[in-house]
Amino acid sequence: MSVKYVYTFSEGNGGMRELLGGKGANLAEMTNLGMPVPFGFTITTEACTRYYDDKETIAPEIKDEIFDYLTRLETTTGKQFGNPENPLLVSVRSGSRASMPGMMDTILNLGMNDLVVEGVAKLTNNPRFAYDSYRRFIQMFSDVVMELPKHNFEVIIDEMKEHRGIKQDTDFTADDLKEMVAKFKQYYRENKHSEFPSDPRDQLIEAVKAVFRSWDNPRAIYYRRMNDIPSTWGTAVNVQSMVFGNTGDDSGTGVAFTRNPATGEKKLYGEFLMNAQGEDVVAGIRTPQTIDQLKDVMPHAYDQFVEICGKLEAHYKDMQDMEFTIEHGNLFMLQTRNGKRTAAAALKIAVDLVEEGMITKEKAVLQVDPKQLDALLHPQFDVVKMKDAKPIGRALPASPGAAAGRVVFTAADAVEWKNRGEKVILVRLETSPEDIEGMHVSQGILTARGGMTSHAAVVARGMGTCCVSGCGDIKFSGKSFTLGGRVINEGDWISLDGTTGNIYGEAIPTVPASITGDFRKLMGWADEIRTLKVRTNADTPKDAKQAYEFGAEGIGLVRTEHMFFEGERIKAMREMIVSKTVEQRSKALAKLLPMQRSDFEGIYEAMQGFPVTIRYLDPPLHEFLPTEEADIKAIADEMGLTFDELKSVVVSLHESNPMMGHRGCRLAVSYPEIAEMQTRAVIEAALNVKRNHPDWDFVPEIMIPLVGELKELKYVKDIVVRVADELIAASGVNLKYMVGTMIEIPRAALLADEIATEAEFFSFGTNDLTQMTYGFSRDDAGAFLGAYYDKKIFEQDPFARLDQNGVGKLVAMAAKLGKQTRPDLKLGICGEHGGDPSSIEFCHNAGLTYVSCSPFRVPIARLAAAHAVLKAKK
Ligand code: ADP
Ligand code: MG
Ligand code: MG
Repeated sequence: MSVKYVYTFSEGNGGMRELLGGKGANLAEMTNLGMPVPFGFTITTEACTRYYDDKETIAPEIKDEIFDYLTRLETTTGKQFGNPENPLLVSVRSGSRASMPGMMDTILNLGMNDLVVEGVAKLTNNPRFAYDSYRRFIQMFSDVVMELPKHNFEVIIDEMKEHRGIKQDTDFTADDLKEMVAKFKQYYRENKHSEFPSDPRDQLIEAVKAVFRSWDNPRAIYYRRMNDIPSTWGTAVNVQSMVFGNTGDDSGTGVAFTRNPATGEKKLYGEFLMNAQGEDVVAGIRTPQTIDQLKDVMPHAYDQFVEICGKLEAHYKDMQDMEFTIEHGNLFMLQTRNGKRTAAAALKIAVDLVEEGMITKEKAVLQVDPKQLDALLHPQFDVVKMKDAKPIGRALPASPGAAAGRVVFTAADAVEWKNRGEKVILVRLETSPEDIEGMHVSQGILTARGGMTSHAAVVARGMGTCCVSGCGDIKFSGKSFTLGGRVINEGDWISLDGTTGNIYGEAIPTVPASITGDFRKLMGWADEIRTLKVRTNADTPKDAKQAYEFGAEGIGLVRTEHMFFEGERIKAMREMIVSKTVEQRSKALAKLLPMQRSDFEGIYEAMQGFPVTIRYLDPPLHEFLPTEEADIKAIADEMGLTFDELKSVVVSLHESNPMMGHRGCRLAVSYPEIAEMQTRAVIEAALNVKRNHPDWDFVPEIMIPLVGELKELKYVKDIVVRVADELIAASGVNLKYMVGTMIEIPRAALLADEIATEAEFFSFGTNDLTQMTYGFSRDDAGAFLGAYYDKKIFEQDPFARLDQNGVGKLVAMAAKLGKQTRPDLKLGICGEHGGDPSSIEFCHNAGLTYVSCSPFRVPIARLAAAHAVLKAKK
């Protein structure tokens, strides 16, 4: 049988989201539940994939199938496409598997032309409505299908408003709108050099193609990369008969959530607009009314809606985000989906649903997206400092969080400033989908227009970025604005409180977050489920403490060199580097010893008995030396050397490819004194801490970096063991320690069985392993990764998300080989990937013992590790 590419809403169901997309599957599900859904059909995601396979054309048999279903739709509705006596008008709506809010565009009122509009006017006895629908259609179709920006039409509308002296679009008369249609079409003709397409069937096919194309627009691609959505999924297209919220004062349109998406509170939450269509609510054209007010305006429709909300939530067992339209007092459901929510709301809703007996703890854990927790783990405003701060304005608390940054006015500037290392707050009249990247890099977003369900609000909540929206008091002028009597220029600091909606004209300091309440409860459930341990990468006692509070069960990576840069230490380090003899070098190292030892003591203390993995000196030595002539001179003076002496050291250490140069264990092979000193620091610190805490039986884990050959590991290990055993024997304390290695050079992965004869643990250093496997450096990849994304060679940054096919193969292989030699081999990962949920799932499946990530990602990793268990069960 040939492939079926089209399904009516009653043929589909909620389980078919892969084929029908989320929107289509849920429209089908609501239809099956007997809810009032306008009839329609869905063209599958497979048709979209075919469209791309067929070089961006719709195959004739798919076209036939679409027209066949159109005929069916005509029969069901009793209306006819293009027939002015009884016209069928449809919406063409995109919908991929994962909801991508505002990423792809919808066309309403398709089927309109000069004859049909007259028919609609006559049938409804409402020419105003007919022409309003027609002008909207021209606008949307031109924008989405023909790439004539919507904005240019807005300009025509604004001119007409000014000319007529009116403020709201609802004040336009039928004749005004008729004139507007003529102007729109003229504008179209002038710019496209052809007539606006009038055949509804052509309109339909062009619209379907446009939806398919929109799957590949830049903002969709960016959104996918941000959310790990593969480009192969494609989008479905829904063709649905129109219902009209713009027929007059007994009609309207709205959006609502079954619970509050910002706080999670169990209360219907939403907005609607009377006499409006489609996205008017979201676009912030007029200020909407709250859903509670619908009770007074249209009690019957309100009651029906409340009942449907209850049914939908019970059915999907999750908070729903719905779109509805009321036509002459009759309610129609146009969309439902599991609602996007802030991290705080996600936690509250998940915990509440368990307590209401709706879902299990496992389901609750799965309901919270690990990445989203990020928003809760970052600093909040310092309450003390907040007290003195006076807001200069207040608007809608659209997405919670605390943000302080410098004002920029465009998304492009946000990106540019952020790349310069600035913290920015994006201030806009309103945001649009093109702004997504700028929104993503901003600390916070402030808009002058738009409600709680505006684009800015929805997208910010999805990204966990603080947002205050709809601040009508803002008056823009060029690259500045006034608010509360203050003039704020580009680059000025402001702060936003996304929880109260307050705006401050200054930078308010922030304090670290903590895990309490629902957060704590859900993390407890996640911990019961997960088997993978979660450690942290921390180089200082302060970071270690933070990670411990976030639930880290040890440290997977202490980068010892990070301690060598501060104050006096860099001096001793440089002294060590310029040493010409072993004696000189040992003397300099002796200065470093006490500093390093006390750092380790602090770290052991902070981890309270959990294991700590310490990596020995790793970077090439020239990183510690100056490069500028002036700096060389100053430092030479300070060290009592001549300029030439120091300069010659700098020159001698120069490497053409430092990443593959004299670094890692190669340093210890050349200068064994370094490994000796570091072993002393590790062991003496452990002995001291153990004396104070005899009940902590922690085992320091000494990690030799950049090993590619068994003999080099053995050479360094022998030094470690000699020094450590001597110290332990002399102390009389019973201290165990381990010596292991990073697996970060492909050769070590290939020979992992050999390496494991000496290494007591492996830690996958996936940053270097990725660099060396791909053969490009992390620091240089930025220059070409952009082109790789554009050309679809890469969908993801391999340094952020583990390349499971290639690098992952090495990891899995090394894990297996290592365990053959040493069945109790401890396996961890300490690259950036240790905090990335999809990579964590991979680590779980590869049988690793733990992942290690930055302190702020520890809770994310704990939750992701639980997800990995639950997903593996499925
Ligand atoms: P998005 O994914 O951007 O929300 P939608 O396809 O849901 O796009 O549609 C955009 C707007 O148009 C929504 O407000 C929706 O409710 C409205 N809409 C879509 N189809 C119809 C229809 N058949 N009748 C009336 N309104 C519709
Ligand atoms: Mg849209
Ligand atoms: Mg929608």
